[in-house]
Amino acid sequence: MKYVSTRGEAPVLGFEDVMLAGLARDGGLYVPQTLPNMDFESLQGLPYADVAFEVMHPFIGGEIPDADFRQIVNDAYATFDHAATCPLLQVGANDWVLELFHGPTLAFKDVAMQVLSRLMDRTLKKRGARATVIGATSGDTGSAAIEAFKGRDSLDIFILHPHGRTSDVQRKQMTTAIEGNVHNIAIEGTFDDCQALVKALFNDHAYRDRLQLAGVNSINWVRILAQVVYYVTAANALGATDSNRISFSVPTGNFGDVFAGNIAALMGLPMAQLIVATNSNDILARALNTSVYEPRQTLATQSPSMDIQVASNFERLLYWIAHCRPEQVRSWMGDLTSKGRFTFDPTIVTRRNELVQFEAMAIDEATTTLTISELYKATGYVADPHTAVGIAAARRSTQRQGQPMVMLATAHPAKFPEAVERAIGRKPDRPERLAHVLDAKERYTVLPNDFSAVAEFISQRARLGSI
Ligand SMILES: *Cc1c(COP(=O)(O)O)cnc(C)c1O
Repeated sequence: MKYVSTRGEAPVLGFEDVMLAGLARDGGLYVPQTLPNMDFESLQGLPYADVAFEVMHPFIGGEIPDADFRQIVNDAYATFDHAATCPLLQVGANDWVLELFHGPTLAFKDVAMQVLSRLMDRTLKKRGARATVIGATSGDTGSAAIEAFKGRDSLDIFILHPHGRTSDVQRKQMTTAIEGNVHNIAIEGTFDDCQALVKALFNDHAYRDRLQLAGVNSINWVRILAQVVYYVTAANALGATDSNRISFSVPTGNFGDVFAGNIAALMGLPMAQLIVATNSNDILARALNTSVYEPRQTLATQSPSMDIQVASNFERLLYWIAHCRPEQVRSWMGDLTSKGRFTFDPTIVTRRNELVQFEAMAIDEATTTLTISELYKATGYVADPHTAVGIAAARRSTQRQGQPMVMLATAHPAKFPEAVERAIGRKPDRPERLAHVLDAKERYTVLPNDFSAVAEFISQRARLGSI
């Protein structure tokens, strides 16, 4: 399997190179040249790790021996503390919550990061090479990445987070790592500033090559790929068939998780609706409902992992909508740079609904709180504010036609105790896995939102050369 850039001006690469590259050299994102059709029903009843192996296998294109890859997915999901890995819980007559937070950092990013870190480490060791992982985080990506990459001697990891804008728990999960290869940078700016700095470092090709930069944000294709798996296990658990299609509601920021769902549908998973649920940072809801993509100022909400106004992965959807014509994507991205917005052609709305019915919605802060409290009163279930955004959107759907609805639970409520307490009058129970970080010593460096300062900091600390 080969991968091409959404902007069409970067080399065509295989799986391992795409994994190490992150962002394509032309500023685009890598997508597979073709998508395999999968016989999802044949995977019914298999353990999660086995489904993960089968779903991801065709995308590796034979670059990793089957036995090694099987070991990697088994090890990755052995770090989860639930026998089902991503369990499905019924919370309404035809409503289910898909819990994606049973990994080491209690957020859904672990699902992909635990696989990605092992794959990267394997490839680097095989090549005798070293890499510098850099990433931007609004909270959960950073902690999941640090947890997955800490102590791996083929890499150093530098994570940029917006100073003072992550939750206390999220920050401590990152900054209490003691391993020498972990570096936390607090940027005086927003998540979008952090993401822009990371993109700028990647786009400085001399710097990128010298430091062997590797990206672990959801611009990395492997992140998306690993997330396709739980759409499959959830649909299979509910007995999805072409006449019994399943809907999903996905709380979204960078469009990565929703895009994984879209890939599952493109590969033949019987899906009805895919609800794109944003918080007050509603760029995706506006883009999908008006065909105008226009970033605005980022607002701080109680679901900080979705406080995003530049939804990188939307470019991957645009590429498919543009019938895989990179020149169209380049023209939209050119408008975005020069005019701060772009408008896509109106027939796009029809086209994007051909395989799966998108419904996009923004959920405000009061509705998020109300949703946590209503669900708690009705069922005793405690949802975190990100999950609540998806649940609220599912409840407000105007296009739902009675199909089973799976709502993705992306974080454990204990990661956002203040927001949960506001809604239900008490703090959520704190799982064992979180207790140890809360009292440990923190380590991070505050830097200005300035390219040279960040580039210099990383370059002084990264260990370069071969292993
Ligand atoms: C990252 C994250 C999201 C958003 O996921 P995207 O792939 O960026 O859309 C939602 N909820 C939580 C808890 C997250 O950490």
